[in-house]
Order: sequence, then C-alpha cells, then structure tokens
Amino acid sequence: MRVLILGGTGDAATLATQVSLLPGVTVINSLAGRTLQPSAPVGMVRVGGFGGADGLVAYLQEQRIDLLIDATHPFAAQISWNAAAAATTINVPHLLLVRPEWQKVPGDRWLEIDTVEAAAQAIPTTAQRIFLTIGRQQLAPFAPLTDRWFLMRSIDPPAPDLTLPPGTLLLDRGPFTLEGEGALLKKYGIDTIVSKNSGGDATYAKVVAARELGLPIVMVQRPAMPQCDRVTNVASAVAWVKQRL
Ligand code: NAP
Repeated sequence: MRVLILGGTGDAATLATQVSLLPGVTVINSLAGRTLQPSAPVGMVRVGGFGGADGLVAYLQEQRIDLLIDATHPFAAQISWNAAAAATTINVPHLLLVRPEWQKVPGDRWLEIDTVEAAAQAIPTTAQRIFLTIGRQQLAPFAPLTDRWFLMRSIDPPAPDLTLPPGTLLLDRGPFTLEGEGALLKKYGIDTIVSKNSGGDATYAKVVAARELGLPIVMVQRPAMPQCDRVTNVASAVAWVKQRL
C-alpha cells in the first residue's frame, strides 16, 4: 500500500515514522520546498508543488497512491483544497490531519482577526514594539507601519526583495520554551504579539508567556478547510491507515 503524506509539519513527520512501521506500507512524503533545510522525514521524500489539483491527480495516478493524508499546516489552505479536489476526482481515500486550535483561557487578551492582512490593520495604535510570529511569507502587509518597531521571527530569512517593516529579524525554529519566550518578550520590550492560531505544543509557549505578562495577541484565525474525513492527532491518522490495510 502506497501512502502519500502531504507534510511540512511536525505531525506529518511523526505520522510518516509511525505509518512506515506498518507492514506492507510505503510512505512518500511531499514537501512544498519552502524551508531551506527541512528535517528529513522517514520514507521517500519528494519536494515542490504538483501544479494545482490537476497536477496532484496526475501524480497520484503515476505513483499509484492508495491513500492520501493531508498533514499540512492548518494555514496551508490551498494545498488542502487541492488535495480534497484531487482525491474526489479519482476516488482516492483522503484524510485531513489537523491539530486542534488553541482555545482562549482566562487571562488571554486576544484580538481575533480573520486574515494576516486584516491583522496588520487591526494593530492597536498603542502598540509600539510588536512581535510578529507568523513566518516569513506574509510580512509585507506590516511594511506600511513605519512608525512601529517589529521583531520578526522565522525559520529562514524572508525573500531579499520583500519590503519589511522597521525592526529586527530573528531566525529560529521551535519548539520554544516558556522560559525562553518570556525572556525574549522582556529583552525586546514587546508590548503586542501577532500570531496565527496554529495550535499544537511547539509554539504555544508564546501564548502562555503573553498571558503571564498581560500582553495582547492579535490572533489570526484559521482559513476555511474542505469538508472531508478529518482527525486531530497522529494516533487517529495511523488508525485510519490500519483500517484500510
Ligand atoms: P499553501 O498556500 O496551501 O500552498 C501553496 C502551494 O504550495 C500549493 O498549491 C502547492 O503547489 C504547494 N504546496 C504546499 N504544500 C505542499 C506540500 N506539502 N507538498 C507539495 N506542494 C505543496 O501552502 P503554504 O501556506 O505556502 O505552506 C507551504 C508548506 O509549508 C506546507 O506544506 C505547510 O505544511 C508548511 N507550513 C506552512 C505554514 C503556514 O503558516 N502557512 C506554517 C508551517 C509550515 P501546487 O499547487 O503547485 O501543487
């Protein structure tokens, strides 16, 4: 049985390890190729886009894929819609693995906003030193805010031709600790955070640190995802594969 895992997340890598252990299963991981030095998942790896839903259909047929698991990031909406469309077109069983959202708890000061572009416009005027933890691909909407200062954290540097807001780049890769996140917020005198509601443990420490320091978070909500079979954790995704062996 040949299983294609659309990856780029820690959950996808864990899933690849566990599914590879099942007898008679071959795992092919697909990465978009955004990260310069991605951690190599277990199994075969292919890198780069497929060329839309049609390209993915062709790939699924050429590679005789039996099961398709979309374990991409909750904000990677385009590939998830493509995966759902391709799987439906040629009737390949398809599962979406998407971790639960973070839930607001007492003490959290979240301003919940639909998109990164809207978040840039929603930053309160009182915010002067802002921690942008949204990766490197959507920094441009903040560039017009030239009267503020930004700490921008991402795994790889932004494209050199991208216009950035004033501030400092910090290249780092999670998981992050509560102690480390608290120290970072204090070191840079951060008064506001912009984050995506990614969910998961690896980057949750900033949310707790903000709560402890009483700092607001402009929290970008998740994009819409296709209606399809869906699980929220790796164990359930492995069980889904086992049911189809
Ligand atoms: P996206 O907007 O949903 O996808 C844009 C295009 O990139 C897709 O149409 C597809 O190209 C290609 N692509 C995306 N994921 C792919 C994969 N796993 N394998 C092959 N091609 C893929 O995705 P994105 O937000 O740019 O994210 C790209 C990757 O980074 C994803 O794999 C995701 O898991 C990971 N990631 C994203 C975020 C985030 O905040 N968005 C955070 C952490 C990790 P074609 O149409 O040509 O097939």
